[in-house]
Amino acid sequence: MYVTKFDKTDCKVDLDSISPDAPKDISRDQAELKLESLGKEMFELQDLLWGARNHAVLIVLQGLDTAGKDGAIKNVAGFLNPRGVSVVSFGVPTKEEQEHDFLWRVHKHTPRRGEWTLFNRSHYEDILVVRVESLCPESIWRERFGHIRDFEELLVEHNTIVLKFFLHISKDEQKKRLYEREQDERTAWKLNVGDWQTREKWKDYKEAYEDALRKTSTERAPWHVVPANNKWFRNLVVAETIVETLRPYKKIWRKKLDDMGVRAKSELEAYRQRKSE
Ligand code: ATP
Repeated sequence: MYVTKFDKTDCKVDLDSISPDAPKDISRDQAELKLESLGKEMFELQDLLWGARNHAVLIVLQGLDTAGKDGAIKNVAGFLNPRGVSVVSFGVPTKEEQEHDFLWRVHKHTPRRGEWTLFNRSHYEDILVVRVESLCPESIWRERFGHIRDFEELLVEHNTIVLKFFLHISKDEQKKRLYEREQDERTAWKLNVGDWQTREKWKDYKEAYEDALRKTSTERAPWHVVPANNKWFRNLVVAETIVETLRPYKKIWRKKLDDMGVRAKSELEAYRQRKSE
């Protein structure tokens, strides 16, 4: 496991001490091979969850601009049966959204049992961009740490498996990616002055993220910091974390499906019996 997991509130979080680079002991070829087999396992797990319908999966992707939220989602969703997956992106709140509590727009997109939802940005923006850009008073965003913990606890209590990922890139890597975007005419449409402006506040965002991780990591809704400077490694870590989190549920889902199979067979037998009488 190459992920750094935070599963306790008020834990020590120092992003500078976590490397955003892929470690030297794994090559891209090895990672891609492993990813392929994890992808197959993820698909099987999704199929069991879909049939058993006693859990839902919520995956939250956060990270600074160009960290690869979209790429990571594309990779995970690519392994899954589209039948049971939704992706939801959260941008600047609309007027209607602003006139509700900050969780209103989020809660209605949480997955029903049997299904997966991937969040590209999330309710965490309300303690990140809102904090750094001073979009509301500190007394309001500070309250939100507790609201978020309670909200996620509610989801977990109702059988949602919550996985939160922070895609960790370096400032240099971000610069490289922004320039690449500019040089390639196929990606230039993604250019946004705002990305450069946000970059100037790198330190403030880092502190806001550290605080978010510190205050909203819990045993049942942990944060995972993913080294994301190398896209192939980021994909591996995200997939591995998802599979390792879901694997322990396999037995429960299998058992429920086996019981359903036995019941269905006996109903069929009884039906045939009645027909033949
Ligand atoms: P991304 O940068 O995620 O790839 P994008 O550049 O295409 O997305 P949008 O999806 O339209 O842009 O919106 C993302 C922007 O919305 C980000 O700048 C983010 O900070 C902002 N945003 C998201 N949630 C909130 C919020 N609750 N309050 C204010 N701004 C928010």
